[in-house]
Amino acid sequence: MAADEFRLRRERLSAEFGTHKVDALAVSSAPNVRYLTGFTGSNGLLLALPGGDGVFFTDPRYRIQSQQEVSCPVKVATGPLLPQLMTAARRLRVRRLGFEAAHLSCMLGDALRKELPLGATLVPVNGWIEQQRMTKSATEIAAIRRSVETNSAAFEQAARHVRAGMREFDLAAELDYRMRRAGAESTAFETIVATGARSALPHARPSDARLAAGDLVVVDMGAVQGGYCSDMTRMLFLGSPGTKVKRMYRTVLEAQLAAIDAVRPGVTAMYVDRAARQVLKAGKLDKAFVHSTGHGLGLEIHEPPRVGKREKTRLEPGMAITIEPGAYLEGFGGIRIEDTVVVTESGCEILTPTPKELRVI
Ligand code: ZN
Ligand code: ZN
Repeated sequence: MAADEFRLRRERLSAEFGTHKVDALAVSSAPNVRYLTGFTGSNGLLLALPGGDGVFFTDPRYRIQSQQEVSCPVKVATGPLLPQLMTAARRLRVRRLGFEAAHLSCMLGDALRKELPLGATLVPVNGWIEQQRMTKSATEIAAIRRSVETNSAAFEQAARHVRAGMREFDLAAELDYRMRRAGAESTAFETIVATGARSALPHARPSDARLAAGDLVVVDMGAVQGGYCSDMTRMLFLGSPGTKVKRMYRTVLEAQLAAIDAVRPGVTAMYVDRAARQVLKAGKLDKAFVHSTGHGLGLEIHEPPRVGKREKTRLEPGMAITIEPGAYLEGFGGIRIEDTVVVTESGCEILTPTPKELRVI
């Protein structure tokens, strides 16, 4: 990502300083630090300053890396970073220092108060950076697209190896391996593989359960590539599906298509959620749908906006969200179908290339 994109993000952030009467903002959440500086390591703090300026703090392990990645002055500190940031804030005569209240541990908060210069004030700040992160730039969308394509390629390759008798562990390992081979830095979350009645657990962890004839198998997987996440759920069936599975699958697919159809700029996230829910209700599966229709994704696998029942956020071009309705019947099994989509000027683009029919093996 070009260095000026990070500067532009910091400029946009500091444009908010006036409205909230802060002179500087201490950024401590790792994804937010990455978003504003390009730093991909685990220990970094940013003192964001007016006009898009900033000072970045890290420890000696990241000396070389931060010089390569970070687009603002870097200070390498031995020991805790926060006192260093406070010293810099003092030197710059910061009177009102904003901090990310939602991302500060109690310990860090105490240190912040202890180091605060006399007469200066701490201002809790929430969601400024997350708000900005909701709408992705062209470079970010390109990164998400690559991540989605890698994820789908890995699924295609792994799906060829699926057979009765393999354990959920085996399939999960195959998916993760294929993801890495296709170019992913890591998985975006622990890959979900659940077979038979276990597919009714929306967030099942892979187990030693074996895939058997007559089983529905849910695969929910995501890659991280260039720092950006992808997320997809697909269903497999071993053998020949009966009427109940077929009907249930068709209803969930119709709900997913209806929700995708509802995605366009200006509508609320809850409007999209409702589109899925109405179809499930008509198919008498609304009570079996126990989560929200989707979520934003980007540097993190779950980001605002949530596509849920009461979510009033209005969709805007550039937002990347998942659409993933499902239905879960205890003792029988569950079905979920999930794509990653990007809101466009006129509707949305489905990034996920993987076909959506029930994959019969
Ligand atoms: Zn998801
Ligand atoms: Zn998922």
